[in-house]
Amino acid sequence: MVKRMTQSSKTATPLGRWKRLQLWHKILIGLVLGVATGAIFKEDALVLAPIGTLFLNAIKMLIVPLVFVSLVSGITSMQDSAKLGRISIKTISIYMVTTAFAVSIGLLFGAVFTPGDGLNMIASGQETAKEAPSLVSILVGLVPSNPVTAFAEGNVLQIIVFAIAIGVSMNLVGEKATPAIKLFDSLAETFYKLTDLIMGLAPYGVFALIAGVVGSHGAEVLLPLAEVIGVIYLASFAHVVLVYGGLIGLLARLSPMRFLRGIAPALAVAFSTSSSSGTLPISIECARKNLGVSQGVAGFVLPVGATINMDGTAIYQGVLALFIAQAFGVDLGAGQYMMIILTATLASIGTAGVPGAGLIMLGLVLTAAGLPLEGVALIAGIDRILDMARTTVNVAGDLMTTTLVGRSEKELDVEIYNSPNHDGTQ
Ligand code: ASP
Repeated sequence: MVKRMTQSSKTATPLGRWKRLQLWHKILIGLVLGVATGAIFKEDALVLAPIGTLFLNAIKMLIVPLVFVSLVSGITSMQDSAKLGRISIKTISIYMVTTAFAVSIGLLFGAVFTPGDGLNMIASGQETAKEAPSLVSILVGLVPSNPVTAFAEGNVLQIIVFAIAIGVSMNLVGEKATPAIKLFDSLAETFYKLTDLIMGLAPYGVFALIAGVVGSHGAEVLLPLAEVIGVIYLASFAHVVLVYGGLIGLLARLSPMRFLRGIAPALAVAFSTSSSSGTLPISIECARKNLGVSQGVAGFVLPVGATINMDGTAIYQGVLALFIAQAFGVDLGAGQYMMIILTATLASIGTAGVPGAGLIMLGLVLTAAGLPLEGVALIAGIDRILDMARTTVNVAGDLMTTTLVGRSEKELDVEIYNSPNHDGTQ
């Protein structure tokens, strides 16, 4: 008893207590304090912006090298090429099916809560939309004609293809490729360590980023559209709890609560940065350290997800398609509903995991469904607030798929998954 008291009095200073907190607690505190700071100091909170940018730059710095080396090293640890094929098929199928579900949930919430009723907007029919990328052009663009350009431009899909090609070739070479395999293993460990170190900055980065976003969005911008914001947040929450929680519990037979706790740091970073690609290093770290997913599976499923899997964006499109139809007084027929589900699911493949990408895609979905494009302008002012929710769901969806694939391929260590003390730090 006496011993315990002296020990706790030693660390009872605020700084000591702060240091002892688990990382994900610190990040959540950063998030809450960031919201409060933004609400109190309004635009003055933007003085914190450089801290947020510094954190963002630090994680972005990791994306290209981390994705490349961790994927090559993951593939060389998986000698069985049939397994790689199986993992790819499972990954893509889960991504497609959950995205179609997500648009439907968005449509359902939009239909039930009718957030656009009573807005009485009038369309002028002047605007034009950007063309959707065709499936053929997406497929042809997967192979980089120059890998150095792919690295320089941060084209994650091309980097994935190049990494798979190198990894598979190393496996085929056998003995002579051993030094190269070891080099990639050791580089992967180095980048994981660097991710660990950068994650230590997350509470401060998240704090600064959120304070800036909240400070620059006053009540006057948010209030008129509060209902549609609420519906999108609610639909996103329902999707994570029902679809992801259900799949983790029923299909993977793992605890959904542990899943949410394990991915909390990635969710907080996704929420504050609005970029699933930017969150990628943190997602990989959470999958490996907190969910116990192998490097091979995490290194493949997550980068693919950050570029092609956007459930949150799909929910957003579902709700907004209905919101805009209601606001402009357009009655949607069954064909238009099907069109929305199809275009939103397909368009998500071609969208980058960067802030604001979903707003551009919204234009595509509206055009395909014959809805007025002015809807995009109506939403633009609050898009960042919506982006925070959809990016969080996008990242949660990638991590859920990683967990399912890892579990079904026996590439998930249940002991790590269930361990009470994981928090993604060193
Ligand atoms: N910001 C989202 C993401 O990075 C994409 C979007 O704008 O919908 O996942």
